[in-house]
Amino acid sequence: MFESREEVLQKVLGMPRPKCPHCGAEMSIWEEPPIRFGDGLGWGTPYLFVCFNDDCELFRSGWKHIEETYAHHASYRCMNYPGTDVFECVPVFSEMGMKGQIVDESVLARQEAEKEAIIRGFNLLAEYYNTKDGPGVLKLLLDPLEPARVRLKAAEMIGDIGEVEAIEPLRSLHFPSEAIQKQVDAAVARIHERHFTRECPFCAEVIKRRAKICKHCGKDVTGA
Ligand SMILES: [Zn+2]
Ligand SMILES: [Zn+2]
Repeated sequence: MFESREEVLQKVLGMPRPKCPHCGAEMSIWEEPPIRFGDGLGWGTPYLFVCFNDDCELFRSGWKHIEETYAHHASYRCMNYPGTDVFECVPVFSEMGMKGQIVDESVLARQEAEKEAIIRGFNLLAEYYNTKDGPGVLKLLLDPLEPARVRLKAAEMIGDIGEVEAIEPLRSLHFPSEAIQKQVDAAVARIHERHFTRECPFCAEVIKRRAKICKHCGKDVTGA
């Protein structure tokens, strides 16, 4: 059965942390980097338990052993396949080696908070959409603290339910991601389409699509 990275992580998080057989320290959850170092390592799981105790016997004696045997500066960390009694050695080339991929509590807390923010944002958007609450959708779209996925969805919705008044705030802000900016531009075009309006090429105020003279700046906008 195929399991997503997310599902595997949840399972590994639920497991008791094994103790390193070399030093007795509790092992950390370690995430395989997107690009594997070494050939054919293929662990077959994106998460492993690894002992990152720098006083671990295996790690400490590994430097000397590898230096004498292979004349390389490297050592080993002990790793375990989650859910098994299989412990193996994985080479590291410095004390910091592999530490970048430790899945620590703060990373998990951040992931969890982001997930909750996305659910909350999508629930709000669904409610706003049903009640045709354009300003509500706009508020989420303009809020830099909202997750990108929520803002992208809000940009899509504002094209469907936004009033002409939404155009000014949409135009005056630059959105951090290209995907959101594109969606916002499409939404503005859609709002104009639904209201038979356009922006005056001279003063940028919203005018009727058929207008010949801009009611704001008085310029001739025929064919402009
Ligand atoms: Zn150890
Ligand atoms: Zn004008």
